[in-house]
Amino acid sequence: GLRTEWVLRWIDATSRALEDNKPLLTELDSVIGDGDHGENLARGFAAVDQKLSSLIVETPRQALRTTGVILLASVGGAAGPLYGTAFLRAAKAIPKDALELGPQDVAMMLVKAAEGIAERGGCQPGDKTMLDAWYPAATNAAAAVAKGAGAAEVLQIAAKAALSGADGTLSMSAAKGRASLLGERSIGHKDPGAISTAMILSAAATSAV
Ligand code: ADP
Ligand code: MG
Ligand code: MG
Repeated sequence: GLRTEWVLRWIDATSRALEDNKPLLTELDSVIGDGDHGENLARGFAAVDQKLSSLIVETPRQALRTTGVILLASVGGAAGPLYGTAFLRAAKAIPKDALELGPQDVAMMLVKAAEGIAERGGCQPGDKTMLDAWYPAATNAAAAVAKGAGAAEVLQIAAKAALSGADGTLSMSAAKGRASLLGERSIGHKDPGAISTAMILSAAATSAV
């Protein structure tokens, strides 16, 4: 199973991945948005990383909740509230005192995170948003659990699904967020939030093994 240390490694790996990929995310958001996605996220996850290392976090739920709270407080724009909601919902999906997460917990975290994003963003799969990475991650994770996959394997499957979902935004026309101002002209460019989601979930998977 996955313990609190997994969440801490995940956030740390995410923070590093977003810092390394800041230029790519900036570039993607410059084409169909306002170019701040890389900066917003790198700053936000660095703040989370710093907060978590200054606290004694006892449970995975507490670590995920803290992550959501700090993202809500420190990341502006559209992505801050969306990622904040995702982590708060993921926290709520886990039993309060659980010290170790199994495959079912991991899948529920992703399912609830995706639901939270859909609600908060008023978006659906196909709208060319981060949900186009979260949604396939959640549904593939749930399917993997039903087939008996372990927690780390569920995360690997989710990460892979998020990446192909994010790549799939290339051919979509944006219906939500700043990119929707471009409408059909957004076709042929990947959604920055879907790409950052793929990075975040990839960090979750690599931190689990
Ligand atoms: P902003 O657009 O305010 O500058 P960011 O650049 O940080 O915010 O984030 C942009 C990303 O947020 C988009 O690429 C998209 O994935 C996501 N996004 C924007 N609006 C929505 C929405 N209504 N629902 C879901 N995701 C959204
Ligand atoms: Mg932006
Ligand atoms: Mg902005």
